[in-house]
Amino acid sequence: MSRPLALALEQLLLPAECLVCHQLLGHGFTDDLVCPVCRLRWRPVRRPWCERCGQPEPHFGPCRLCRDWPDQLRSVRSAVWLDGGARSAVHALKYGGLARVGRDMAAVLARLVERPAARSLLIPIPLGARRRARRGYNQSEALAAPLARIWGLMNRPELLVRTRDTPTQTALTPTARLANVAGAFAVRMGVRGLRTESQDRNPAIVLIDDVFTTGATLAEAARALAAAGFQSITAVTFGRASLPDFN
Ligand SMILES: [Zn+2]
Ligand SMILES: [Zn+2]
Repeated sequence: MSRPLALALEQLLLPAECLVCHQLLGHGFTDDLVCPVCRLRWRPVRRPWCERCGQPEPHFGPCRLCRDWPDQLRSVRSAVWLDGGARSAVHALKYGGLARVGRDMAAVLARLVERPAARSLLIPIPLGARRRARRGYNQSEALAAPLARIWGLMNRPELLVRTRDTPTQTALTPTARLANVAGAFAVRMGVRGLRTESQDRNPAIVLIDDVFTTGATLAEAARALAAAGFQSITAVTFGRASLPDFN
């Protein structure tokens, strides 16, 4: 089936109502999945936060969340707290087969998070092959593609691969999360070509992920990119989960 036809069919099959509150979407919003009211209810992550990891937890002395990250991972920012309607949107993106909601999330993210430096490359956190095949798409890519359009930056999902499927992180303690993702990423060799084709010899990388919890996945991806020679890595996520209490 042609892509325009598939899109038209999807429009017909999906009722034009908000994914979160189920109110009918008004004229002019029928391309959206989440209504303007629900988008405004998503709770922005605000300062004061740790300048590096963006975690607004009060802390004294060095921040424990980001102290073991590789030096090249300079900052991480998240748009909204993962609760209420924001959690529903992430759920639809991850488990509901609704890649299109990534556009709604990207629009809100771009409003709340500062645009990265010009000529930065966006790299969505890759999924393992098996999980990607089961889901049919990578949710981080569904977020990175519209973000790249809004920000006018290049989206380069092919640069980073996940070398193995890692068990889901949800039930793991922060330490177990680190071990779980160790060595899970590799940089494609084509990156050398990228260096010569790019105006920048060492372009800034912006990792894109749907949710930030402890940062273990982002730190591990940054480790692989740093080993390949990238010096400036930041990351942006749509949601930030409040850290579960592991005591
Ligand atoms: Zn709504
Ligand atoms: Zn920190």
